[in-house]
Amino acid sequence: MTDNKLPGSVAVIGAGTMGNGIAQVFAANGVSTFMVDLDQAMLDRATATIHKSLGKFAAKGKITEEQAEAAKGRLTTTTDMDVLSGVDLCIEAVTENLDVKTKVFQTADAKLPESAVLASNTSSISITVLAAKTQRADRVIGMHFMNPVPLMKLVEVIRGNDTSDATATAVEDWSKALGKIPVIANDYPGFVANRILMPMINEAAFSLMEGVATREAIDEIMKLGMNHPMGPLTLADFIGLDVCVSILDVLKDGLGDDKYRACPLMRRLVAAGHLGRKTGRGFYDYSQS
Ligand code: NAD
Repeated sequence: MTDNKLPGSVAVIGAGTMGNGIAQVFAANGVSTFMVDLDQAMLDRATATIHKSLGKFAAKGKITEEQAEAAKGRLTTTTDMDVLSGVDLCIEAVTENLDVKTKVFQTADAKLPESAVLASNTSSISITVLAAKTQRADRVIGMHFMNPVPLMKLVEVIRGNDTSDATATAVEDWSKALGKIPVIANDYPGFVANRILMPMINEAAFSLMEGVATREAIDEIMKLGMNHPMGPLTLADFIGLDVCVSILDVLKDGLGDDKYRACPLMRRLVAAGHLGRKTGRGFYDYSQS
């Protein structure tokens, strides 16, 4: 590990909405960063997204052109999980699905150095369940970044049943060294952020389905009335409707309460492939933007 309380090298598995943001933040803070995905096209898209974002930071004078170039130079993309054998920290940011994450955790556990920390960016899946699939339950933790990662300060740090104090402290220190604010939560379905956010988004979807108001009116009322930066339907499109439905399923199953059942309208949009911004259409149409 480096003197400035950051790991010497990091691997981020999954180069989607969150993975590319997490990789960008580590690379911009001087850490040698690997982005790993099954899909080379996702890696290419993620690299383009990071370059564009670093360019915006440079154009606004938040970083210099040299710093932007240096950050790009610290990023390596690969489809080969073998790179995990040389990193201090691995952050899993693959699809919000227990089976997919379990397989990734087992592979990562086998490939990572013994001392490495294995973190998940999961929004809702149990850290304890994932940790139990590995031989390093004390070094498994939730490191839940917020979207968009380069701009959002919070890291919700989730301690699994057997996460050690040393691991929690290291992750808090690393988060602070990235310029983030870590806040600790315990391992219950949805932790804090999504336990509270998802019922609001779901209720907005039910309100739309039942014709309480138009999508624009629902968003405007919540934006102006609650002083939220964006309305819940816009936010759901930003997060990904598939991610929202997956989180609601985890809340419903994990807490055993039907009040978390995902709105059928949101499920229908997911079934149609309208996942939000990332597919160009969700509650709103982004094809022209
Ligand atoms: P996404 O669908 O945008 O990206 C998932 C990526 O994982 C894809 O690039 C996919 O190719 C890759 N992937 C799938 N299986 C893989 C495997 N076995 N090995 C390597 N790569 C694999 O998803 P996302 O929105 O970035 O979400 C990722 C995680 O972050 C989820 O756990 C989600 O709950 C969490 N999260 C999402 C948000 C959000 O706003 N979208 C916010 C916080 C946390």
